[in-house]
Amino acid sequence: MNGSGFIKGMFVTLRHFVNSYVDDVRYGFRKFSPQVDNFELRQGTQAEGVFTVQYPDEKVAVPERFRFVPFLVVNNFDHASDPGKDWCTSCGICAKVCPPQCIWIVRSEDPTTGRPVPEPEAFFIDIDICMNCGFCAEFCPFDAIKMDHDYELASFDRTNNHVFDKPKLSKEMRYWKSIAPTRAVEEMQVRGGWEHKDAQKAERRGGAVRGKPEAAAPATAAVAEDASKEAKREAVRARKAEAEAAPAPVAEATPAADGGSGAKPWTASHDENEKRKAAALARKAARAAKRGEG
Ligand code: SF4
Ligand code: SF4
Repeated sequence: MNGSGFIKGMFVTLRHFVNSYVDDVRYGFRKFSPQVDNFELRQGTQAEGVFTVQYPDEKVAVPERFRFVPFLVVNNFDHASDPGKDWCTSCGICAKVCPPQCIWIVRSEDPTTGRPVPEPEAFFIDIDICMNCGFCAEFCPFDAIKMDHDYELASFDRTNNHVFDKPKLSKEMRYWKSIAPTRAVEEMQVRGGWEHKDAQKAERRGGAVRGKPEAAAPATAAVAEDASKEAKREAVRARKAEAEAAPAPVAEATPAADGGSGAKPWTASHDENEKRKAAALARKAARAAKRGEG
């Protein structure tokens, strides 16, 4: 019948209007009491009526899967053996998958050997560019980057304040557990324990398995696999050490590859560089001609 939908809609509006006052009566002045925290209840599924959230004094509780800019997980600052240790291994996967490319990572190096160390020396995220897609957290193989719930990031300076560095991004594991308890437990079960994967491996090698759930206890196969991987790594290290110890006639090999001139590209004279450039262009033209004939 004409107009019935309109009347039904008006009744819904009227019901919300009345329920707002019923809700107020139900809670009375308790909502103004600093001793009583019934805000979550009022924001929950039990609440009825229309109400205004008095932001920023009140905030709507966000669901567990809510995601804002990412943060880096580190060990708790009171961790027994490695307080505050980064979970990130600076593998760079997050930076690679980030659609707007707003992650920069600098990998650490051993100061004596110069070899890469699986830890980030620096880690930056430009939060103005980040679009909160969560890809970095999805792809991280070490559960080291997670999406935060803190959305109050406005500031008066958008030049430096919004490029978050490692100290600003790093948050304890217990923070992740507090904002996403269900996901933290799910991830722990997949990972096999509360500790970082590498820490677990190290402990398995040492015999004890700290923080590992009992259901995952039969780890003999994993231990054997780790041992075999470690043996392979040891063999590779030994081969590298042998290769480094052997005298390498690098200086003699280079001139032959350089047309006998002996000059490296960055030390050759201008004329030599021009000759090399002309030869390279000729080779390129020959290849192009050949492709054209083909
Ligand atoms: S946060 Fe994860 S994916 Fe990104 S570099 Fe660190 S370990 Fe790799
Ligand atoms: S949430 Fe998305 S846009 Fe933001 S840093 Fe991660 S991958 Fe990049």
